[in-house]
Amino acid sequence: PIVFEQRTEREVAVLALLKKAFDELPPESDNPMMNIMAQVMGGDLSDYRDMIMSESPGALPIKLDIFRQYSMYGTEDATEGEGLAKYMSKNTPAKYGLSAMAMAAVSSGKDGANVVMSKYMPELTQGKLFCYCITEPGAGTNTHKVSTVAVDEGDHFRLNGQKTFISAADTAFYMAVIARVEVDGKKGSVGTFVLEADTDGISMTKLDIAALGDPQFTVHFDDVILPKSALVGEKASKSGASGISESVFYTLNLERIMIGLGAIKVGQESLQRAVKKAKQVQPFGPLLGESAAVKQQLAKLTLQYELTNLALKKAGVAFDNRENPKTVGMFSNMAKYLASTFADQASDVALQLYGVEGLDKEADDIGGLCQVGRVLRTVPINNEMVLNFLAENLMGLPKSYQV
Ligand SMILES: Cc1cc2nc3c(=O)[nH]c(=O)nc-3n(C[C@H](O)[C@H](O)[C@H](O)COP(=O)(O)OP(=O)(O)OC[C@H]3O[C@@H](n4cnc5c(N)ncnc54)[C@H](O)[C@@H]3O)c2cc1C
Repeated sequence: PIVFEQRTEREVAVLALLKKAFDELPPESDNPMMNIMAQVMGGDLSDYRDMIMSESPGALPIKLDIFRQYSMYGTEDATEGEGLAKYMSKNTPAKYGLSAMAMAAVSSGKDGANVVMSKYMPELTQGKLFCYCITEPGAGTNTHKVSTVAVDEGDHFRLNGQKTFISAADTAFYMAVIARVEVDGKKGSVGTFVLEADTDGISMTKLDIAALGDPQFTVHFDDVILPKSALVGEKASKSGASGISESVFYTLNLERIMIGLGAIKVGQESLQRAVKKAKQVQPFGPLLGESAAVKQQLAKLTLQYELTNLALKKAGVAFDNRENPKTVGMFSNMAKYLASTFADQASDVALQLYGVEGLDKEADDIGGLCQVGRVLRTVPINNEMVLNFLAENLMGLPKSYQV
């Protein structure tokens, strides 16, 4: 287990809080958050030690997610032969990432870190989780087109609109909703609102999506009345169509890193299985792994794995140190691109080596890994827009699309 010889006061406070909550829980509890925390306190997190020890307020959300990665995707639990896809759907890990994103939005504002520590962290340990609502039927990656609106009516906001593909909306206690503020009939900037999921005027319809993890919903907001304090986090520097709050960028950067952490595990699992098959299968005499073409393909994937891991760590540290959002955006976009490409390519190679056996859900379910790997190229941001972002921001090339 990791030795916290350099614990800061803040670390001591967080761990004491979690330990107290854990100690007070009945031993037979199946509260998943508690199980995570138990593993965190006894688990081996040495790889991400620097990030975990960071004192920055922004460190909290990413810590939450690293806990999630280690306790839920950790190699100890994902036993050989148990499909990661099956494993993911059983444990619905996305829920914790969604809460981490909401915490990132809250902690981006003045005093936000204290609110996270004093209010939301204890509540998260009681299982009061978040869903995160940004996608709309007409606004996928393009957040500038968000049409959900929060009209400023003096002492409250009135929220109207619709969000879709919202994971785990049915079990969320809170919702973090991205909406455009409107004042005196004029369009303002896009910001993050936190509301309780059982507030009057909220309804939802379950979607029938062939995806893994938590179920998705379309969520409707009809004349939902919110206190002014529901608008959280850093405000936008510009208003109107071009103004998107820093809280949104901060959160989306974190999401890219978290999705990258999930994607690298999908790729790693796929690669391990591909190597296993290359050493086992000999359809026409020689082992598949004896072929130079197969060996070199697997070696290239190993290179991709190492590069992706470095990129993820770099992005995580930049996020935690609250570097300039553009810098964090650059590294988190790179990490997301590399990780999703690695997941997609490694699962494809694994399926190639398995042949049809890879489609057997009861065996290694390589088909499931391929599905996740492919979806990750589009979600939560499509890889084409990642490349556009890099070309425009690193090389100063002009925009080739309209927002
Ligand atoms: C399992 C799952 C869970 C999800 N959970 C949530 C959730 O909890 N909350 C939430 O808010 N959303 C959620 N989403 C939605 C997800 O964030 C969106 O799907 C994502 O933002 C992409 O939007 P889109 O699918 O509309 O595609 P878009 O980004 O709108 O793109 C549509 C197509 O156009 C292509 N494209 C786009 N721009 C370009 C370009 N410039 N050049 C070339 N091609 C381009 C894309 O590659 C894609 O094929 C979830 C989705 C899935 C699948």
